[in-house]
Order: sequence, then C-alpha cells, then structure tokens
Amino acid sequence: MKKNAWLLLVFSLLGSFNARSAENKTRNIILITIDGLRWQEVFRGADEAFMNKEKNSGGVPAGDLVALKADFLGVTAQERRKKLMPFFWGTLVPGGQAFGNRDYGSASSVLNTERISYPGYNELLTGAPDPLITSNAPVPNRNVTVLEWLNGRPEFKGRVAAAAAWNVFAPIINVGRSRLPLFVTGQHSAPGSVSPRIAELERWMDDIPPISNTENFDAFVYHAAVDRIDTHQPRVFLIALGEPDEWAHAHRYDRYLQSIRRCDRFIRQLWEKIQAIPQYRDSTTMVLTPDHGRGVTLEDWNGHGKKIPRSEETWLAVYGPDTPALGERQEGVAEVHQAQVAATVAALLGEDFRAAFPAAAAPVSAVLRAGSEK
Ligand SMILES: [Zn+2]
Repeated sequence: MKKNAWLLLVFSLLGSFNARSAENKTRNIILITIDGLRWQEVFRGADEAFMNKEKNSGGVPAGDLVALKADFLGVTAQERRKKLMPFFWGTLVPGGQAFGNRDYGSASSVLNTERISYPGYNELLTGAPDPLITSNAPVPNRNVTVLEWLNGRPEFKGRVAAAAAWNVFAPIINVGRSRLPLFVTGQHSAPGSVSPRIAELERWMDDIPPISNTENFDAFVYHAAVDRIDTHQPRVFLIALGEPDEWAHAHRYDRYLQSIRRCDRFIRQLWEKIQAIPQYRDSTTMVLTPDHGRGVTLEDWNGHGKKIPRSEETWLAVYGPDTPALGERQEGVAEVHQAQVAATVAALLGEDFRAAFPAAAAPVSAVLRAGSEK
C-alpha cells in the first residue's frame, strides 16, 4: 500500500472511532451508598487521633488498639487510605474519578440542611433536597426517585432493584408506590416468593442480634446483592450499605474502620463478579457516595446533623466505561452535590432525568463521555 492509502485508512478508522465514542457504553448502573462514611477516612485513611480508648474505642483492650494501629496506620495519607480501601484506591479511582478531597481543593456536599440519612438519600435519589423531609421517620416518600423513574421507562421496566441495610429504605424508595424489589433488614417473605438463598438470609437475620433496631449487618446486603445479580441481573441496582454509620454512632472507631474495609471488599467482589457476566462486562458503571458527612472533632466525629459542623461534607466516586480516568480530582474542579447523583445515574444510561424533573440538579458532567450530557 502507498503512503497515501495508509493515511486514508488511518483517517477513516479515526472517523468511525469518533462517531462511536459519542455513544455511552454504560448499560447498567450499580449505585452503592455507604452510610455516614466520612471523606476524611476515604481520602486520608485512618486517623490516629480517633484511636483513643477513652472516647472512641470503648471496650477495646489495649493490645487490640496496638493491633488496630498496625493494621490501619501509615506514614502518608496515600498509604493509610490504601490500607483502608484497597480496591477503591487500587482500581476504582485510578480508572475513574473521585470528588471530595478538601485537602486538595475538591469539595462534595449535601444541599439539604438536615445532614441526616433520609434527607440525604432523598436528595441523591430524587435530585433535590426536600425541605419537608426533616427526620428519618419512615414516611413514604412523596418524591419520585431516579430508580422508580427508570423502572417506568420501557427499556428498564422490571430491571431496577435495591438492597439495603437500613429498613427505612422501604419508605425512601416508596415501595408501596414504586413496586421496586427491595431486600431489606428484617424482611419476612412469603414462603416460595423468594430464592432459597434469600429465605436463608431472612432466617439468619432473625437468628442473630441486629446492629440496631432498624438495621442489620452489611454482609446480609452483600449476599442479597449477589443473589439478585445471579437470579435477576438488574440493570439498575442500588446497594445501600450501612455499618460505618452505626459503628460511628456507637463510638467504635475500630469497628468503623473494619466495616469500611469490608465495604471495600464487598465492592471488589461485586465488581469482579459482574465482570464475569456478559450483560455487565465493560458496560457497567459504579457510582459510590455516602448520604452525609460527620463531625471532625474527638467530641463530635461520631455524630452528624444540623448541629454538627461540617457534617454536610461528603464525597463521590464514579468508575465505568464512559467516565474519563482523571483519578482523584483536585484544585480547579467544581464542587459536586449529592443532588447531582440522580441525573448523573440517568445520563450515564443515556436518559434525561431533568426532562421529567426540571428541579433536579444537573449531572456531574466531568464523569460523562463528552457530548452525552443531558
Ligand atoms: Zn447516622
């Protein structure tokens, strides 16, 4: 072939590549929320100041505190955070994007002023804070979540699901109206209506002490998520993990850290699992975020809410085939908000959430393929 012919071939290949690149590759979304996980641990790793027997690790024998420090501490933030969340920092962020490291000029926050869970999940799932949602009372949500909306679209009908550690997710996604399938703490399904594995998980939830009155351990959610993927292969799947918030409220920094590391392992295992399934391989985007932040001092890190300064501060990570691999976002990047999650999830799937809900916040354009924003 002559030189000109080669050039022609190269240009025509480039042309077809450009035409394709405008289309989203994302066909599935796994939205993972981790209740009350602070950005400080995500980006800085474990904080030695909180490994404090008197205030924050009640009941931990001194020897265990030594082991805890050996397990989670390191000289640099990079070293510590990789010990805490090895998959997040080894794979997700290098191949995707993470927002919220305020040490380097990237901010993420909730817009609602309550800084507690129901207002936070409502904001991130419906695209806007609701001033009338001011508590965690299990009132059916008057707002429509992006999950319910997608489930109403022909392409996604019956392909949207959720699994949650906290039983208030039933009203948050308004299962009475949305009819979304939800695995949740304390459920008791009619015999024969669920898979044998879910029936067994329900028995285990009855048989062990719950972590709180409204919540059980993340292991149940993880195994229920595995079962849902095996039996139904949802295209949009909310997996709502909750232990870090419970252990933080209990002043157990040790168990808070251990639960974060387990969340990271569950996420890795789910990612590895779906990459082995043709429906998901190379066509799934993972979106990760908490529902609120927490306090920053030894006195109030365990709490969050209106009266706890800086508990509006959060983080956001996105990893998938359409998200440019810009890694940890730093100086110069715009602040992101939980309210943007709903439209971002829709836009990654090529859907326009704001056409239906104009009050919803815009998607985070930086995580979308150029030209695909709606
Ligand atoms: Zn909480």
